[in-house]
Amino acid sequence: MSLGTGPRRIRALAALAVLVVAWRVVAIARIGPVEALRPLAPAAGRHEVRGVFHVHTRLSHDGRAEVGEIVDAARQAGIEFVYLTEHNNFGIADTGQEGWKDGVLLLSGNEAGTCDSFDPRTNQCVGGHVLLLGPPKLTEPLTNKKSEELAELTGRAGGLAFAAHPGNRRVPWRGGEGGLAGAEMLSFWSAYEDLGWTRIVPALACYPLNATYAMNLITLSAGPDLAAFDAMCRRRRLTGIAGADAHANIKVTQSRSVAFPSMSSFFRMMSTHLLLDGPFTRQLDADRKLLLGALSKGRAYAAWDSLADASGFAFTAQIRDTIHPMGSVLPRQWMTLRVTAPEAPGARVTLLRDGAPVAFADGASLVYQTTADGAFRCEVSLPFATPFLGLQERHPWILSSPIYVGDETEDGELQSTDCSPLAFPLSVCNPPFPVSNLKPGKPTHPCAPPPPDFCFWSSSEPPLSSIPSSSLTPSSTSSPTRRSTGTGRDCRTGATTASRR
Ligand SMILES: [Zn+2]
Ligand SMILES: [Zn+2]
Repeated sequence: MSLGTGPRRIRALAALAVLVVAWRVVAIARIGPVEALRPLAPAAGRHEVRGVFHVHTRLSHDGRAEVGEIVDAARQAGIEFVYLTEHNNFGIADTGQEGWKDGVLLLSGNEAGTCDSFDPRTNQCVGGHVLLLGPPKLTEPLTNKKSEELAELTGRAGGLAFAAHPGNRRVPWRGGEGGLAGAEMLSFWSAYEDLGWTRIVPALACYPLNATYAMNLITLSAGPDLAAFDAMCRRRRLTGIAGADAHANIKVTQSRSVAFPSMSSFFRMMSTHLLLDGPFTRQLDADRKLLLGALSKGRAYAAWDSLADASGFAFTAQIRDTIHPMGSVLPRQWMTLRVTAPEAPGARVTLLRDGAPVAFADGASLVYQTTADGAFRCEVSLPFATPFLGLQERHPWILSSPIYVGDETEDGELQSTDCSPLAFPLSVCNPPFPVSNLKPGKPTHPCAPPPPDFCFWSSSEPPLSSIPSSSLTPSSTSSPTRRSTGTGRDCRTGATTASRR
């Protein structure tokens, strides 16, 4: 077919371009969540709730949302709790609005600035932001305090401290991990500020058509916070959450701001799922305790619910007959790590150790056997259609909190528990390698040794190869803070010994 020449040809090409753009506009406007092919049935005794952390109201200097607007948006998106974290104040704890409102649990926290060092040139503190979750209110002054001091104050009041947007380019985490219970694995604003114009412009153009799709486009790469989270997890057991950092407005000039993104689009995009010890009681104090309990134990994962319903997701470690949930700290030994997500088209599971991929599986589950130590976490991704015709990328769907293999000291620091490498030749493996869905109990890789026994090592002692065999003693000096079950073979003596809880 000929398009003719000259102005006719230009008009025809322009009409074709308009048609293509119109077709993409309609297609983008229609994009919604993927129906999971096989949603996971709720397991007996599992109390899973969805909530959003790090939300600002008008009680923050840069927030514009009213509390009622937040409750409405949360209820419509199926969000069960919202942690409000105002800048340097306890917001609704002061105004008496904390508690259950129209089926949504509103909790008060505080996003405090830390003072981790001092810049003599500007005469100002240099620090990051920490979310103080849980305490109804701290009476001590919070200014000019290091992150560790703020975390300790919060802990003493019965709350938990989480590093906010740890990888943010303007306000990264600058303190140590001491006293922290967790950190944001993803902050919307870190992802937004890390985008180039090639992604910001299409995202803003798509926002009026399909706000949730635009938000997903902005968070297509989980961004710098996840890398910072992985680095912190090598030193301390941390729970991972998603941080909205929702303000309901964005500054465009010094004096003007626009209402973007809306609370509704935040709440529909993603949430943090928590696995509680029991169902909500509809009593503020009891339910706050349930939430903080799950957060302190690492029973949390972040999910883009706007892509597909992630409810029922599980990441566990099996040692002999005992299943250990996400967030566990386990001594180094033979174990089976297992990931199970709802089946969704194109799902892919990636298992990471200390931030580096060690295995992946196409599908919604992965089984991996290991004797290595480190912080293991997993990501599940889904295919995602970009606004550009025919261009697909993978979008993170689920980010788990880690399972830790190693020793944890009394103050929560992690230490390596490397046993003799000769006994466990996994080091010859060349990860990452694909893992198909294997039956439990079968080795996943030729490198994997059979699992006859396991081995653990006292964190305070040197590895086997560096101490003379005549000085080896039974394992009675193993760390008293180790959490494990069952029995194992001591690395050094070969004696079978009951491990500690
Ligand atoms: Zn902040
Ligand atoms: Zn904030």
